[in-house]
Amino acid sequence: MKYVIEHMETGFSEWTILEYSQIIRDLGKENLFLTSLPQGTTEADIPSRLVALGLQWTTQEVIDIVGGQEKAKEVCLLDPRATQDLVPADATEFEYFVFGGILGDHPPRDRTGELRKKYGFAGRRLGKLQMTTDTAIRTTQLIVANKTAFEDIKFIDYPELRFSTYEATEMPFRYVLDTNGKPIFPEGMLELIKNDSEQSIDDLL
Ligand code: SAM
Repeated sequence: MKYVIEHMETGFSEWTILEYSQIIRDLGKENLFLTSLPQGTTEADIPSRLVALGLQWTTQEVIDIVGGQEKAKEVCLLDPRATQDLVPADATEFEYFVFGGILGDHPPRDRTGELRKKYGFAGRRLGKLQMTTDTAIRTTQLIVANKTAFEDIKFIDYPELRFSTYEATEMPFRYVLDTNGKPIFPEGMLELIKNDSEQSIDDLL
């Protein structure tokens, strides 16, 4: 099974770099493709941390990577607006799992809809709440590779990150819990969120 992220943001924010880095570590570099980078992109445009982790990237679209329109039936788009939820048996149905490389927004703007309309791949949902891209990939992996039913995965919705008595941030997403009952974030993400929140508090002063 291969995982594809259609990159839909402009450039690479620090948040995106941390998410993509974690996804490469989770899946193994050979199982992930980052597609649809702007024409003319060169390796110099790819953040060095992603290059160092062995990111496979291309300016081609996902349809070219999977082998053209005749292979489209082997492709599943993970789509928050799909009518069917992903189940372990989908592992035999699909070879490629495609995700929007989209930063989460609240309320969600359905930018995944652009991929739905463009390619017409079969869609599967991962429950009714928005996940970050790395969480959506982690959940997909648990369902199709580990054969865990969605209902058996432990999640936390909208966790509050408390940095001090006065400082807390609510994350408007669903996250997978680790074995210690803590939400799984990409390495470095908590520090980034803390720094960003200090920044915005400073902006108000
Ligand atoms: N706000 C975005 C939108 O407007 O579509 C959602 C982006 S989400 C942060 C990034 C990607 O993760 C989505 O494009 C989708 O592939 C996947 N994803 C996130 N939550 C999902 C869910 N509940 N079901 C299926 N896929 C999901």
